[in-house]
Amino acid sequence: MDGATRRAGAVAGVRTVQNPIQAARLVMEATEHVLLAYPGADELAREHGLPLQPPAYFFTQQRFDQLQEAIAAGRVQLDHAAATAPVPDPNWKKGTVGAVARDVRGHLAAATSTGGMTNKRYSRIGDAPLIGAGTWADEQCAVSCTGHGEFFIRAVVGHDIACLMAYKGLSLAEACRVVVHDKLAPVGGEGGLIAVDAAGQLVLPFNSEGMYRASRNAAGEEVVEIY
Ligand code: ASP
Repeated sequence: MDGATRRAGAVAGVRTVQNPIQAARLVMEATEHVLLAYPGADELAREHGLPLQPPAYFFTQQRFDQLQEAIAAGRVQLDHAAATAPVPDPNWKKGTVGAVARDVRGHLAAATSTGGMTNKRYSRIGDAPLIGAGTWADEQCAVSCTGHGEFFIRAVVGHDIACLMAYKGLSLAEACRVVVHDKLAPVGGEGGLIAVDAAGQLVLPFNSEGMYRASRNAAGEEVVEIY
């Protein structure tokens, strides 16, 4: 989502697209729609020559093992919640990825890419491609979420943060605290988000045990944190 223009694009349920954010951008720039799902989304990517891959490209033993574990336990779980998840290893960590950015003019943008939850029901769509829930950008904030999507959808997390800032005058940090800790946490909405405001203030709150996160500012200062 492009905050300055409020243009947005998203795809869900794609099976062949190598880089789903590119397909989401395509929906935004090459169609008059916001969200395409299932074969129609793959088809759009193919028509425009985006890289496509066969199912084997997306297979990892780690994720397969996690799925078996979740099926055996009868659970739907976050990608980092499985007992088989090893200690953090950069070669293994291929989970949900979100990005928020502010440019030199103070324009904001957000994007979120996820494989969704492990052992989710076939055809389930989470919060990531739902504009206003898992992904949001306007003139005052850009937000990208990770966590148990059903809770983020019901809380309309991204847009709620924008509303708390616009209508209640809260800072980005205060708005994020209210949503992540006061609204999501008490009902079991495990997860977190990354957010930036028009002044470049970064906020990266989470109510889970940890959240892989990193940032870089215009001075080149980098921060990488997990817990
Ligand atoms: N929010 C994603 C979903 O519910 C999962 C995640 O962030 O790990 O599909």
